[in-house]
Amino acid sequence: SVPVALVAGIGRAARDGILIKGGEFLETAAKIDVVALDKTGTITRGEPRLTAIKAGAGFPEDEVLRWAALAEAGSEHPLAIPVLDAARERGITVPAIPDHVRSVPGHGVVAMVGGREVAVGNLALMREVGADVDYGQFAVDELSAAGQTPLVVALDGEVIGALGVADTIRDDAAELVASLHAAGVKRVLMLTGDNQRVADSVAAQVGIDDARASLLPEDKLDVIRELQADGHTVAMVGDGVNDAPALALADVGIAMGAAGSPVAVETADIALMTSRLSRIPDAISLAKRTAHVMR
Ligand code: ADP
Ligand code: MG
Repeated sequence: SVPVALVAGIGRAARDGILIKGGEFLETAAKIDVVALDKTGTITRGEPRLTAIKAGAGFPEDEVLRWAALAEAGSEHPLAIPVLDAARERGITVPAIPDHVRSVPGHGVVAMVGGREVAVGNLALMREVGADVDYGQFAVDELSAAGQTPLVVALDGEVIGALGVADTIRDDAAELVASLHAAGVKRVLMLTGDNQRVADSVAAQVGIDDARASLLPEDKLDVIRELQADGHTVAMVGDGVNDAPALALADVGIAMGAAGSPVAVETADIALMTSRLSRIPDAISLAKRTAHVMR
């Protein structure tokens, strides 16, 4: 028979917008001692805005933005939105979808537009398309130092400029980290595909001392696997399609359901039907209380 305390716990959680997909997750959640948080869309709002345009020699800013937008028109990554919005705001017309698009997970997008190759992404992507990364490196350093995510733009294998994008940190992110510690979580980590300097800047603002950056989706799995091998019970919190494997691997996968991807919600053990981050420590405290009553 299902313990009454468990049923009551799940019911109470559901009224608070915390969807728990089975009593066993409440039991595991009571043992969580490490929480890994995705950056984009979880700690930050996931509504990035274009904040800078760096143009290489001979390229007006609008041209850099136009080429980037032509490629991002074929991307479903959250970073495509601020690029397309900025282009629209400047009256730059972007035809619907490029001729051919290739998404490179964790690195960027490469598109063919009217016979020309446009690549938008990080320096690893620039190396992949054979671009000389010197100018790109300079722009990346400047933008990252200012806490902006750099998107380097290359046309036919030549870097023509870079865009800076910044996302606002959620108001309740710092409180979340403090509450997690108060709820008995020993370590809070941030996992991100973004570069180390941007990651460190965000982490410092919310009180996280362990920010793992430049991670590909499979690297996030390795981090979780290592923590589990060390005997930790790990919760992973994420919002995106690319977080789904990590949510599945973690002992407890928690999806930010309100604005996140349906795939993340489907894969997770616990889904939050609100964007209020305080629901995460609430769920863990509730699990610990329920486990206590059951003992
Ligand atoms: P996160 O782990 O923070 O959610 P991702 O793994 O999705 O981030 O992306 C990692 C990095 O890859 C981004 O910070 C960006 O530099 C680059 N990138 C990925 N997709 C795109 C894209 N469509 N356009 C430009 N850059 C991209
Ligand atoms: Mg994300």
